[in-house]
Amino acid sequence: MSEACDLIVLGAGSGGLAVARRAAKYGARVVLLDPAAPGGTCVHRGCVPKKAMWYAARLARDQALAGDYGFAVPAGALDWEHFRAARQRYVDGIVGHYERALAEAGIRRVHRRGRLVAAGSVEDEDGGRWQAPHVVVATGARPVTLDIPGFDLGLVSDDMFALRALPRRMAVVGGGYVAAEFAGMLHALGCEVTLLLRDRLLDSFDTDLTDALLDGWRHDGMRVETSFDTRAARREQGGIVLEADRAAGPFDAVLWAVGRTPNSGGLGLDELGVQRDDAGHLCVDDRQETSVPGLYAVGDVTDRRALTPVAVAAGRCLADRLFGHRPDARLDADVVPSVVFTDPPLATAGMDEASARRHYGDAVRCHLHRFRPLLLAVAGHRRQALVKLVCTGPDERVVGIHALGPGADELLQGFAVAMRLGLRKRDLDATLAIHPTFAEELLHLG
Ligand code: FAD
Repeated sequence: MSEACDLIVLGAGSGGLAVARRAAKYGARVVLLDPAAPGGTCVHRGCVPKKAMWYAARLARDQALAGDYGFAVPAGALDWEHFRAARQRYVDGIVGHYERALAEAGIRRVHRRGRLVAAGSVEDEDGGRWQAPHVVVATGARPVTLDIPGFDLGLVSDDMFALRALPRRMAVVGGGYVAAEFAGMLHALGCEVTLLLRDRLLDSFDTDLTDALLDGWRHDGMRVETSFDTRAARREQGGIVLEADRAAGPFDAVLWAVGRTPNSGGLGLDELGVQRDDAGHLCVDDRQETSVPGLYAVGDVTDRRALTPVAVAAGRCLADRLFGHRPDARLDADVVPSVVFTDPPLATAGMDEASARRHYGDAVRCHLHRFRPLLLAVAGHRRQALVKLVCTGPDERVVGIHALGPGADELLQGFAVAMRLGLRKRDLDATLAIHPTFAEELLHLG
């Protein structure tokens, strides 16, 4: 016997919660399956605990900076257990909030994994069956593991939040945002970090900024090895050694940050003929529809940008369309702003220069400014910040804004709104600045 409802959602992470809660608001009867506590990667193993760690790293940096400003503060090490407990309390608070919100919305929670047994029909691990005209897959992604000797000696990003102490010497393998963020945070917290890059760092970001980030890290004492294609890890007396065409180490710990893979196996998708890409992501259109009618997907399990706001917006638009009488609701992802929480943070909205040149050719004009931010310059630090505008056409429409430096993380959100509304360079030139700030540097670009 299966129970009927209006919507079944697999996964209570960012995307699944968004679609379930919005649909319930419209009066839909929703069943939400997830064996884990609500919140998914973002709350338990991603954005939230990561940002807490980033704040801790920033405070470590600020302690040192305070000394350079003249404060007589002895820089102390982080009490890791105290920090872990504070962070967990915060995460528990979010989970409690979600649990209450789901109960108040009348959403039926099933604390089990689900899989499709036919179109519109889901079975949970205990054999419970659910039937609905609409099913959403929002099962997210997990860290990639490599089939190389000694992989088990290292950690993946999920494990970083369970660490009981800061390792003294750590290798970070990978060049994506997860690798970049952990390398920056651990380095700021006082760990001896070696970043092992096979390819370019943050290859979808503007090279002027990523080069500046790497220069700053090297200047601050982080070791960066390039063209390092890790083939094995082994434990020696002094610690873990990594092997490529050369060896690196020894290290006390290794973080493998070599990509993420979608949780799309074991869901009954192949039996239904659901189209997936080579990496296993569900292929969806801008209405979140898969190749099977009535089956939708949102978030990291799809072939779209793996960011919480993208998953949330996709989920809400889908619920608006299915239950909110808004037939045209669809994800508008023309301008995707994002921040890599490195030290200093790197913020970006829209296109990097290379993509813009591929798209618009010679019509592209860039404006770049390097400067010493006041915060650091007063203390005698030479480290530079950088802002860059990527414009196109005779009226210099802004198609990309990029910033690297202290405060860049809070800077681009408002500019992203302006970009969506058709921002031109002359609008920036004509806007009165707030002085003295980092943001005003974007208004004085030639
Ligand atoms: P998830 O949040 O992963 O949720 C999937 C849920 O599905 C899980 O709860 C899982 O238990 C459940 N599930 C799996 N299989 C089944 C099944 N068969 N049945 C039922 N349930 C199932 N994004 C940002 O925007 N900003 C950041 O700063 C940021 N930092 C990050 C840092 C790290 C280290 C990582 C790893 C990610 C970060 N992200 C960040 C990305 C962000 O966390 C994800 O884009 C987002 O969580 C995706 O949400 P989702 O709903 O697709 O999947």
